[in-house]
Amino acid sequence: QPVIAVRDLAKTYRLGGKTNVYALRGVSLDVYPGEFVAVMGPSGSGKSTFMNLIGCLDRPTSGEYWLAGKLVSRLSSDELAIMRNRLIGFVFQGFNLLGRSTAIQNVGLPMVYAGIPKHIRELRARKLLQLVGLGARMNHKPSELSGGQQQRVAIARALSNGPSLLLADEPTGNLDSRTSIEIMAVMQALNEQGLTIVLVTHEPDIANYAKRQVVFRDGRLIRDEPVLQPNSAK
Ligand code: ADP
Ligand code: ADP
Repeated sequence: QPVIAVRDLAKTYRLGGKTNVYALRGVSLDVYPGEFVAVMGPSGSGKSTFMNLIGCLDRPTSGEYWLAGKLVSRLSSDELAIMRNRLIGFVFQGFNLLGRSTAIQNVGLPMVYAGIPKHIRELRARKLLQLVGLGARMNHKPSELSGGQQQRVAIARALSNGPSLLLADEPTGNLDSRTSIEIMAVMQALNEQGLTIVLVTHEPDIANYAKRQVVFRDGRLIRDEPVLQPNSAK
């Protein structure tokens, strides 16, 4: 069963008056467990709109989306929020960490919302920070960490509820190339452990760490192909 199954998805934004922006049209895609997909395309081609839809942050104008076998359009907003929190981890370009909280507190936060008891939260957050190579920085605040270290905290946070799917929107966009490769090494290691990853990037070098690439243009999916020899970050 696919983690993501999308059929003929479309999203239209209505600007004032009669103007419609066709941000996505006729997009169909299946993503199976264990895949690592890079989403590419020029600015304005629909990448963010697509990620917002598969992340259940927005609803399509038409078309179907099954997340882990559940038809998303049939879910209420509350059910959708629960699905999102349980099944999807998000990583962003700007890290989006809480500045006053330590690494371990940031990683623990989604588990607070999921109602997990404190001692279990701490145990899991520790394990996750070790997994992303930040075992020695658990009590540091974001301002005391480098960009790459902050992104590792964000990845650990994204994993805290044991998601089936990691969605990363330009996760290396704020990082230098050496640090970007380190982050891609973390992603590849997680993917090797079975995590399904969909990553948006406009950098071909970064996209080559994925196992499959899809390209958007003018709201359409115009290319979908395997990466025959993915870059290895190790
Ligand atoms: P990126 O390509 O880095 O994902 P954005 O998603 O911020 O950039 O924006 C992509 C395009 O979408 C831009 O042309 C921007 O003007 C437009 N856009 C984004 N959000 C809105 C919005 N709320 N209203 C109108 N246009 C928007
Ligand atoms: P990308 O992420 O590839 O840059 P987007 O998905 O942000 O592309 O944008 C796709 C199209 O939809 C663009 O033409 C953009 O201007 C438009 N768009 C995106 N978000 C909005 C919005 N909230 N309101 C109106 N138009 C938008």
